[in-house]
Amino acid sequence: MKPAVLRLKRGREARVRVHPWIFKGDVADVTDVEAGSPVTVVDGGGRFVGRGFYNPRPPLCCRVLTWKDEPVGDALLRRRIAVAVARRTERRTSPSLARLVWSEADALPGLVVDRYGPVAVVQCLTLGMARRRGDVAVGLREVIGDVPVFSADDPSQAALEGFEPARTWLDEHGPDHVVVEEGRVRIGVTFGQGHKTGLYLDQLENRLRVAAHAGGRDVLDAFSYTAGFACHALVAGARRAVCLESSPEAISGAHENFKLNDVADRAEVVAGNAFDELRRLDRSGQRFGLVVLDPPPFARGRDALDAAARGYKEVNLRAMRLLAPGGVLATFSCSHHVSAEMFEGICREAAGDAGVSLRVLDRLTQSSDHPEVLTIPETRYLKGLLLQAI
Ligand code: SAH
Repeated sequence: MKPAVLRLKRGREARVRVHPWIFKGDVADVTDVEAGSPVTVVDGGGRFVGRGFYNPRPPLCCRVLTWKDEPVGDALLRRRIAVAVARRTERRTSPSLARLVWSEADALPGLVVDRYGPVAVVQCLTLGMARRRGDVAVGLREVIGDVPVFSADDPSQAALEGFEPARTWLDEHGPDHVVVEEGRVRIGVTFGQGHKTGLYLDQLENRLRVAAHAGGRDVLDAFSYTAGFACHALVAGARRAVCLESSPEAISGAHENFKLNDVADRAEVVAGNAFDELRRLDRSGQRFGLVVLDPPPFARGRDALDAAARGYKEVNLRAMRLLAPGGVLATFSCSHHVSAEMFEGICREAAGDAGVSLRVLDRLTQSSDHPEVLTIPETRYLKGLLLQAI
């Protein structure tokens, strides 16, 4: 069989060398190649650029896996997985709760692997990776031992790429539920339920950091999911915590976590739309010493940016008005399309409209096991500000 070749339009190779995403608009032509199979990428003059998996279906049709003239087979995947896991082991003594593989930042575009105690969760973001799930599991087990592997693909990404999203054990069954430790806090995880691969691991370090401001304070955890921020705050000595959350699954997880941490007598969840609840709390005159605002991505695409900006401004304005004197606000945006500058601009406007002066205590981002790639700005998706009322 002739090797599959994707030829870039002239001048596109320089960008692709540092930013491995090839869009259909970058492609001059491509030979016959089966979706999800390896393709050799060459520049306009036919010179070798790299190699990756090709998929004609999504606009982002190839993510380069190597810039060396080497096969993109199981040996490469296994080597890269071993390096990714070794990096996490350097940073933490026991990475029993961590993102082990983070796509482009580990030179494994399209693959995410998270460790939840005795279980590894694999999420495939491209057809090419989904086809090689078995090789991924072999590579993982070589370095972390014979763990059960749960597949937790994202349904919308799978639809875009044209594969059936897996949400099940790969082969050997593991426990459906585990309790993991985040510092002093215990959190329950049920595989196959909930968001992401189980928890928002990208917020793990921020949960610890924000809890340092919780002592003696009343806490509002808006868009709380399973109350991770609230549990950390309560264990760190907060007086009480109110969570706002709309998903019944997340709410039952929050109640479980309150019990696991022995804080149920100081915690409550208000089920409903956080937009309405923030407004209601403001009107009722309640004030909080610590407010956490961690909404879902309001902007799923560039065209939704204006509506997203209005949403962020609204919730931030309300949250700022709810701060007690000297109160601290930890506010986040995880929308890929909202830049850090834009997010800060929105918060500035919200503070202006709310008539609240805030000092910036810190600028926050995703946990360090989800590192940003300098030349791929899209990899810095979580932006946060830690603010304090003056
Ligand atoms: N802070 C959490 C993660 C929050 S993710 C953590 O650290 O684990 C955002 C959460 O907002 C999700 O759980 C989602 O169910 C919830 N959510 C989305 N829209 C909402 C709305 N309008 N009102 C209340 N909750 C909402």
